[in-house]
Amino acid sequence: MKEIVKVENLVKKYKDNMAVKNVSFAVNEGEVLAIIGSSGSGKSTVLRCMNQLEKIDGGNIKIDEDEMIKEYKNGKPIYNDKETLKKMNLKCGMVFQNFNLFPHKSILENVTEAMITVLKMEKKEAEEKAIKLLDKMGIQDKKDAYPCNLSGGQQQRVSIARALAIEPEILFMDEPTSALDPELIGEVLKVIKKLAEEKKTMVIVTHEIQFASQVADRIIFMDKGSIIEMGTPKEVIENPKEERTKQFLQRYLERE
Ligand code: ADP
Ligand code: MG
Repeated sequence: MKEIVKVENLVKKYKDNMAVKNVSFAVNEGEVLAIIGSSGSGKSTVLRCMNQLEKIDGGNIKIDEDEMIKEYKNGKPIYNDKETLKKMNLKCGMVFQNFNLFPHKSILENVTEAMITVLKMEKKEAEEKAIKLLDKMGIQDKKDAYPCNLSGGQQQRVSIARALAIEPEILFMDEPTSALDPELIGEVLKVIKKLAEEKKTMVIVTHEIQFASQVADRIIFMDKGSIIEMGTPKEVIENPKEERTKQFLQRYLERE
């Protein structure tokens, strides 16, 4: 089994706040990993570090054979060269909670943007590919619309198409359904499920515990910046070992 991502003793601080404390895990090709945990437990920060949206303070992140940090000098991380970092970043797609679409670009332009500017594809080729992706997300008819004319569920499906456009090896999603009205959650979960069935490698931060149990091969439960428990859905959700996991799941069930 090919290991696509390896996170080793990742540390991220915001001033004195240790947002992520020595987090380690790996993601294999074709695997879906879900990260659950209370608000403020460091889930987004882990994803943001993997996407190079935050600088890390300790540990390392490996994507395929490349490492983000070349070495540590006097305890300070020395990042790898720009080219390697860019190569690593191109292998990562990201879907945000609030879609983050370009408001002044059409749906089609949102999806073709990175293909044209980063991958240097011809416009026509990029558009053909974008239309295929939008079709797969069930939203091809909206290609000429603007984000503000779409529902949240539609916008999030566009944002998934946009992330897939660069053919990332791994897709990260940070609470892809948290900003949606309840009746729109299903349509987004459905496309994510489809990607999971196609064996797209994904790391999904989610509050949808049921959904996580269904699509994830493994689940990580985080609390206060640390991984408390990691295992199959059966292990973590049905038979949690740790007291903190039990309490979290109990609170979740009560809220439902
Ligand atoms: P989660 O996604 O699990 O809700 P986050 O990763 O967003 O948690 O946050 C982890 C911790 O880091 C929290 O204590 C949060 O307040 C802090 N934090 C996150 N982003 C920032 C930031 N940009 N500046 C300062 N502190 C931050
Ligand atoms: Mg978050």
